[in-house]
Amino acid sequence: MAVSTAIRLIHHSIDGAAVDEPAQRYGDVFDPAHGVVQARVAFADPPMVDRAVRAAAAAFPGWRDTPLGKRAEVLFAFRELLRTNAQRIAQIVSSEHGKVVTDAAGEVARALEVVDYACALTQMTKGEFSESVSRNVDTYSIRQPLGVCAGITPFNFPIMVPAWMFAIAIACGNTFVLKPSERDPSASILVAELWAQAGLPKGVFNVVHGDKVAVDAILTHPGIAAVSFVGSTPIAKYVYATAAANGKRVQALGGAKNHLVVMPDADMDAAADALVSAAYGSAGQRCMAISASVTVGNAHEALIPKIRERIGRLKIGPGADASNDMGPVVSAQARDRITDYIAQGDRAGASLVEDGRKLRVSGCDDGFWVGPTLFDRVTPEMTIYTDEIFGPVLVNVRAEDLDEALELVNSNPYGNGTSIFTRNGGAAHKFQREVQAGMVGVNVPIPVPVGYYSFGGWKASLFGDLHIYGEDGFRFYTRGKVVTARWDENTAGVNLGFPSHK
Ligand code: NAD
Repeated sequence: MAVSTAIRLIHHSIDGAAVDEPAQRYGDVFDPAHGVVQARVAFADPPMVDRAVRAAAAAFPGWRDTPLGKRAEVLFAFRELLRTNAQRIAQIVSSEHGKVVTDAAGEVARALEVVDYACALTQMTKGEFSESVSRNVDTYSIRQPLGVCAGITPFNFPIMVPAWMFAIAIACGNTFVLKPSERDPSASILVAELWAQAGLPKGVFNVVHGDKVAVDAILTHPGIAAVSFVGSTPIAKYVYATAAANGKRVQALGGAKNHLVVMPDADMDAAADALVSAAYGSAGQRCMAISASVTVGNAHEALIPKIRERIGRLKIGPGADASNDMGPVVSAQARDRITDYIAQGDRAGASLVEDGRKLRVSGCDDGFWVGPTLFDRVTPEMTIYTDEIFGPVLVNVRAEDLDEALELVNSNPYGNGTSIFTRNGGAAHKFQREVQAGMVGVNVPIPVPVGYYSFGGWKASLFGDLHIYGEDGFRFYTRGKVVTARWDENTAGVNLGFPSHK
């Protein structure tokens, strides 16, 4: 493919340097607010992925053997660089993803939280020791890094989701190959530069860009020990099956349809604020966005007008303008898919309270715009309910009572996050006990756990055993070894019986 010299090219970063070589294939990186190509990103073929894995493998023994305190020092330096570059990163994220720059700054803050936690590596990688498990015999457990780990990440959080992975993996002494989303790849390149400035040895953190070709090369590469994936459910399933079949440890986080249940006794203003923020923030392109509300009893009577009123006050425009509340969606394909779902909901007989297809943003005629959309009287067989739309579309389903609401949430194939708004402690307690989801909110809209807990859904929202970051992150990126040792000089003689501990 011929590439114009006028347009910025985004390269891989391998062994501490940008790979400034022509690629066989490139992808377009858009400015979603204006619908124009702003850069082209090199796509890795299998030999390029192999080069990154080799660099990471060569760097592994040195990084693994680096004393813990020195490793922590590099983590602390990286944390400081991430903090001082937060605004710059937020601007890069906003320019390629489309989200409002203040929202992007929030994403950087969440990435920092995980890096903060990773800085506790000296504490988190400790093992256990038992003296005298038998006469003069001690047993201890140690946790060791896995080797080369890979991360494959989605477009919607181009800094936070990679940080969930690389911060903990590197803290544990692994080396890392990141394959970020090809739609907003620039933040990961800045991250590679910041790691280098922080003193991370060459080859410990590498970035390869690309699509399915690069992903498949990662999933089948014999030099990669573990794969972390975050993205849509069909790809998560594929990644889980393929990486596991190739002998790798794998965690694959998938899509979502997150419900927020509103009880009739809830503070309706708080519930409406929460729903509008969680449904339309980042134009609904968050894995923890609330895309379905469930109004119990007569809650819809007060709630729907309040949501409508708040939608009317939202300011929509380019993400670079911090005074906007909501920006565009990421691509023309995403816009067309979302507007197609809105048409399907309308045809299926749901009541279309707000229609985002009518939105026009002045000066941005070619941008990828969809306005906040609200459906009421949605029923569970409609595609606007069954499918993850991943756009600014909130669907409301009415339920008679809490049991019916719970049954609805639990029948959904996804189980990422969910919330309840109520003033009744008993209802909240029943909900948190019985609901089938990995992350539960009570009177909070988006229950994303803080960096020192772990993040992960249930059912079709996660394939694998361990959640991501937090304690589970340290478990995922290390493997255990148990040593039983005896140092006395007396031998008890030959004994063919099974060893006992008496
Ligand atoms: P996606 O599944 O299309 O892409 C994710 C990654 O997989 C990207 O790096 C992409 O290059 C790669 N990929 C795409 N198609 C592939 C294929 N056929 N074979 C191999 N690799 C492929 O997801 P997206 O559109 O970038 O992100 C949005 C999705 O991610 C939503 O479904 C959202 O719910 C989900 N998500 C989930 C979480 C979570 O924590 N559970 C967090 C963020 C996003």
